[in-house]
Amino acid sequence: MARYTDSVCRICRRENLKLFLKGDRCYSDKCAFDRRSYPPGEHGQRRGRKTSDYGIQLREKQKVKRMYGLSEKQFRLFFKRADKQKGVTGTSLLVLLERRLDNVIYRLGFVNSRTQGRHFVMHRHFLVNGKIVNIPSYLINIGDVIEIEEKSSNIKAIGDSLDAVVRRGVPQWLDLEKENKRGVVKNFPTREDLTMPMQEQLIVELYSK
Ligand code: SF4
Repeated sequence: MARYTDSVCRICRRENLKLFLKGDRCYSDKCAFDRRSYPPGEHGQRRGRKTSDYGIQLREKQKVKRMYGLSEKQFRLFFKRADKQKGVTGTSLLVLLERRLDNVIYRLGFVNSRTQGRHFVMHRHFLVNGKIVNIPSYLINIGDVIEIEEKSSNIKAIGDSLDAVVRRGVPQWLDLEKENKRGVVKNFPTREDLTMPMQEQLIVELYSK
């Protein structure tokens, strides 16, 4: 699978939005977007270029895909799944993305980015309902209990992330028991819970062509 290997901060600058891809650094004065909030590259500071409808839709898809750290193939699969569900496809897509285990442990504050979440899940550091799950795309359900595997409970990066979770807060659809290093899924998120600027309808339009 093709992986993005360039600096991830370029992604924020390209999408003109802080996507919080690098954990603590995103909240520090080292954030590349805060320092240079124009697109990367030789022509990044050029103004007044007109973007086609297709270009706008494409950028929106790229933004959301990169925010969740997915490849095109993975993102398409999520879209197909969302398209088969009842209701508004764009909202279903975002809710499915939020239900990924790597995202949920990020939202709970066990890790400082979805990338770290993906690595930690793959390295078998997390349990769902008492069983190790090592699949980052695993979809959590209402009532699921997420815990840190006993041998992993002293990992410094997890402790540091939990200490810093106050900074971004835990969404209302999840419940974090910080002392027990345990999280419970109270509900699926609603569209209103997803506060990053995303125009999911543009993604639906792009994939419906
Ligand atoms: Fe984006 Fe974080 Fe890099 Fe800032 S530090 S540009 S928010 S990934």
